[in-house]
Amino acid sequence: MTQPDLACTHLTKRFGDTTAVDDVSFEVPPGSFFSILGPSGCGKTTIMRMIAGFLAPSDGDIRIKGRSVLDVPPNKRPVNMVFQHLALFPMMNIADNIGYGLRRKGLPKPEITAKVGEVLERIGLPDIGTRRVEELSGGQKQRVAIARCMVLEPDVLLLDEPLGALDLKLREHMKIELKALQAAFDTTFVYITHDQSEALVMSDTVAVMNAGRFEQMGAARDLYYRPETAFVAGFVGDSNRWRGRVESVDGDALRLRSDSGLALLGSRHGRALSDGTTADIYVRPEAIRLGHTPGDVAHFDNRLSGTVTSLLFNGAASRILMRPDQGSEEIEVALPQSGEFAHLERGSAVHVGWSSDQGNCFAAEAG
Ligand code: ATP
Repeated sequence: MTQPDLACTHLTKRFGDTTAVDDVSFEVPPGSFFSILGPSGCGKTTIMRMIAGFLAPSDGDIRIKGRSVLDVPPNKRPVNMVFQHLALFPMMNIADNIGYGLRRKGLPKPEITAKVGEVLERIGLPDIGTRRVEELSGGQKQRVAIARCMVLEPDVLLLDEPLGALDLKLREHMKIELKALQAAFDTTFVYITHDQSEALVMSDTVAVMNAGRFEQMGAARDLYYRPETAFVAGFVGDSNRWRGRVESVDGDALRLRSDSGLALLGSRHGRALSDGTTADIYVRPEAIRLGHTPGDVAHFDNRLSGTVTSLLFNGAASRILMRPDQGSEEIEVALPQSGEFAHLERGSAVHVGWSSDQGNCFAAEAG
């Protein structure tokens, strides 16, 4: 097997009584884009700071290209870090900003000029060397911040929510751009974010983190379609969630009576769940089909009739909320892009259906 660029084993960090990072192990293969996705306070930044060397682990090991770096000071580690606040030097031009680290290393001037020119080419901005920082757009500044790190040829580039300060439109654009830059440099990127769409779009592998631990690690599609824990099911993508009591289990299939009185069929997908357990069923809005008549959804094993309570227009991602005739909780349903249901309005009668294997069932978390 190829040696990973980065390997963390049993990484743990305690601050007094708080265990910020709790026995986390992962490997990042060379040239891949790895993201840690989780809510505020789950321990993402603490992992990054340990990899960068700003913080010593309480336990565990960090290896870069096979070598433990625990005894290596931050400025000697083969990693570099891009922060949300890019910290470019406003008094220097772009070429001097990018060459800063090389000058500190004492490289001869012609070599610095050549390396800076090369990296400017790589980021697709060959002619901006003499410009000032304030003359660049937000997206160009991002690219320069990455170039300033990449010119030092780190084995691993750490990115700490670098898109957080950008407006929505630019953030959308930079997601694609960052992925392209990572491929162009063929360097391992480790990216932390609480924004699932950033992690899902860019990463080869995403680790979903919660309360100091990795809940699940995998490709974006696996996290989305095959969440292994209730936290992942709830945190990644949108879902309808019903809590209730499991009434019967037959193989993977189960029947749950929701607290609001609905009889729902779902799947436990191999998880331990038995009769009488309090459980949650998660169903994605796009897994639910809309029909004009009960007959339109008759082939599904979950079927409900109800009334539209809200229209949530969002272009191709438009949805409705419907209240079922039996049971009180509203259900979020994706509107098909065919335009067939564009006429719906508040109060319209609708019929919905979904297949039981789209109902992902987990034992309810305590609390
Ligand atoms: P955010 O997205 O808000 O930056 P995060 O996932 O990066 O959050 P961390 O900053 O790693 O989370 O913090 C994880 C936990 O460790 C939090 O409970 C935080 O309060 C705690 N923590 C972090 N640094 C310290 C410290 N120096 N001393 C004490 N507790 C700390």
